[in-house]
Amino acid sequence: MYDVLVIGGGAAGCMAAGFAAKNGNKVLLAERNDKIGRKVMITGKGRCNVTNACSLLNEFIENVPVNGRFLYGALSRFMPFDTMDFFEDKGVTLKIERGNRVFPESDKAVEIVDALHNFLKDSGVKRVKARIVKFNT
Ligand SMILES: Cc1cc2nc3c(=O)[nH]c(=O)nc-3n(C[C@H](O)[C@H](O)[C@H](O)COP(=O)(O)OP(=O)(O)OC[C@H]3O[C@@H](n4cnc5c(N)ncnc54)[C@H](O)[C@@H]3O)c2cc1C
Repeated sequence: MYDVLVIGGGAAGCMAAGFAAKNGNKVLLAERNDKIGRKVMITGKGRCNVTNACSLLNEFIENVPVNGRFLYGALSRFMPFDTMDFFEDKGVTLKIERGNRVFPESDKAVEIVDALHNFLKDSGVKRVKARIVKFNT
């Protein structure tokens, strides 16, 4: 039996699954593709624009093109610098470019995917290749 089922191993699902497991839950992550983070691999033209190194929450939200206020709750708990710390803690060296855009120093999105992969593994998340169509609670 699992405490948490996360559907989708994109950036959001991997973070949610890993942190749920770190918080003591038994977590199952279902991803329909063979590999997690497929979309992350093509983000930022293959370099992955990880976040924006903006230290002010309001300034960050103001620069979100659509419905930025939706992000207040999440970002007030996990700021862009927390995201940077998260990946650097996992061995990804980051750099800040024009407009405060943050990329892996290697310019390779695969480093971010590998870090997410290791996070799931180290947190004890069980992964399955499955496309969830419908489930009853
Ligand atoms: C060309 C392009 C460039 C981009 N560049 C950037 C960038 O540089 N920086 C940035 O932050 N964002 C960028 N984005 C946006 C980026 O896609 C998102 O930031 C990020 O990938 C969203 O992650 P996610 O986990 O929310 O969604 P997704 O990456 O879409 O993850 C959803 C996952 O769920 C899986 N899934 C869906 N339905 C099911 C199901 N029923 N059962 C099982 N699995 C399922 C999918 O296979 C997928 O792996 C870019 C997007 C595009 C298209």
